[in-house]
Amino acid sequence: IIEMKNVVKSFGLFMALHGVDLQVKEGEIVVVIGPSGSGKSTLIRCINQLEEHNGGEIIVDGAEVSHDRKSTVLTEVGMVFQSFNLFPHMTVLRNVALGPVRVRGLSWAEAEERAQRLLARVGLADQAPKYPAQLSGGQQQRVGIARALAMEPKVLLFDEPTSALDPEMVGEVLDVMQQLAKTGVTMVVVTHEMGFARRVADRVVFMDGGRIVEEGPPDVIFNAPRDPRLRSFLQAVL
Ligand code: ATP
Ligand code: MG
Repeated sequence: IIEMKNVVKSFGLFMALHGVDLQVKEGEIVVVIGPSGSGKSTLIRCINQLEEHNGGEIIVDGAEVSHDRKSTVLTEVGMVFQSFNLFPHMTVLRNVALGPVRVRGLSWAEAEERAQRLLARVGLADQAPKYPAQLSGGQQQRVGIARALAMEPKVLLFDEPTSALDPEMVGEVLDVMQQLAKTGVTMVVVTHEMGFARRVADRVVFMDGGRIVEEGPPDVIFNAPRDPRLRSFLQAVL
């Protein structure tokens, strides 16, 4: 459902992606790991055109992605950020309902019904009338996930969704993501949570220096890494 061919991204003279090839099948869970600055965020931000790539091709659900057609892509690709990016002046329910009203043309009543259902799914049915600031970080991030789901995206991208959380809240968010992974939604997840990668990923992609250096099923990546850069990365994080 995602196909990246020789994708290049530079910031001025600096090359953040040096010709990346990546394919993600429908329903697949791909976890992207790698050191800081290796291009993980840039990779997924190119998929939804938060960054415009300078070369190569990105195809999402059969259509080439470009900056001009950014809006079309964004409606099919949901994103969950490290910093939850909720609207502080809107209730949790409205935060989740807003996208479907604005972009999908649902009425508020329809969208709020959908939002309530999704909030229940992430364990927050009773938090709907509150404002984001009244929730814990873990709860806010689960709202972020419900909000992404409300658009019924074909692909969900996560950029370090648990990095901003206190340690005791990481588990509740990873649990929601693990449940989600079982529902057949396509997910690309950048994370430093190696336990999650091992348990949930169909495939792990290791990036270093703007390139995909190694990829494979989690048992191979974690138990029999070949590239020395991957070996030393795993030694440092495990
Ligand atoms: P982290 O684990 O720290 O989030 P990352 O793997 O997500 O790292 P990226 O954010 O993709 O790394 O950045 C890749 C490289 O591109 C880095 O060297 C970074 O400094 C550079 N970079 C990213 N965004 C910009 C930008 N807007 N302008 C200039 N350089 C950038
Ligand atoms: Mg990043």
